[in-house]
Amino acid sequence: MQKKQADLQCVSLSFPGSGGSAVVKACRIMSLGMAVVVSPHRQVGALPAACYNSPAPAGGSRGSRSLHVGYVGQWGMRVVEPDTKGLLMDIFRRLHSAFGPQHWWPGDGPFEVMVGAILTQNTNWTNVERAIENLKRAKALTPAAINRMSQERLAGLIRPAGYFNIKAGRLKSFVGFFIERYFGRVSRMKDVDTPTLRRQLLKVHGIGPETADSILLYALGRPVFVIDAYTKRVLSRHGIMDASESYERFQELFHAALPHDAGLFNEYHALLVRLGKEFCRPKPRCEGCPLSGLLS
Ligand code: SF4
Repeated sequence: MQKKQADLQCVSLSFPGSGGSAVVKACRIMSLGMAVVVSPHRQVGALPAACYNSPAPAGGSRGSRSLHVGYVGQWGMRVVEPDTKGLLMDIFRRLHSAFGPQHWWPGDGPFEVMVGAILTQNTNWTNVERAIENLKRAKALTPAAINRMSQERLAGLIRPAGYFNIKAGRLKSFVGFFIERYFGRVSRMKDVDTPTLRRQLLKVHGIGPETADSILLYALGRPVFVIDAYTKRVLSRHGIMDASESYERFQELFHAALPHDAGLFNEYHALLVRLGKEFCRPKPRCEGCPLSGLLS
């Protein structure tokens, strides 16, 4: 792949090895948010299997950010990438200290969270709350009740959530799956491993990656990072990953950089949503934003 000169930042790094120090040249491809190393195979063999931090190249667009350098022995090569872990943890700490715990996901129990995850597609939470309140008032917030109810009646109850005909169909599909596979019992679902469950959820009509992962994380406590438009906007504005990258690539970034901890993923996603609503809007309000110090 040919890259324009302006898209590359290169730096020479020196590392101690068993046979003396070795120098490697690392180049960062800015548009991909990643870096690669040009390193002779012979030198690599002398390097310890470890990671280092090195100052970012002078003039780098990310100020004091460092490069994270890891030795991947089985490939016989080195991989260098920005210190994503440090940066993502820094973002989390800043947001947590500015906003505090977000106590997500609001809902009485896992099934209500699952329903909320479907209803919140393309609408705000206040509208979802009104739809859920209608379901509760009609004593319809159970798998059996939703399964029995006509789609028209269900659409009427969830009307405040918007796209109510579409969402009624999606809710019926999900509940049908939930009853057929798991007898409508969350305890049965909990016995299934996360990749299997995710594959099953993605096959249900109207459930995409964000909804499936919201169910896995917030209803079932699985360590799966939820990516949404806010996450993509914040990360791309800070040069971490281009917003056009896929859901999976964003998710891999978090999974690779952070400890797989459902509590951390829960809080982090909720904080990013708060940031996106209050500061990182389509027109950003950087002044006073908890992440303004991370801008170069
Ligand atoms: S509002 Fe500005 S400082 Fe805050 S996250 Fe968005 S781009 Fe960064």
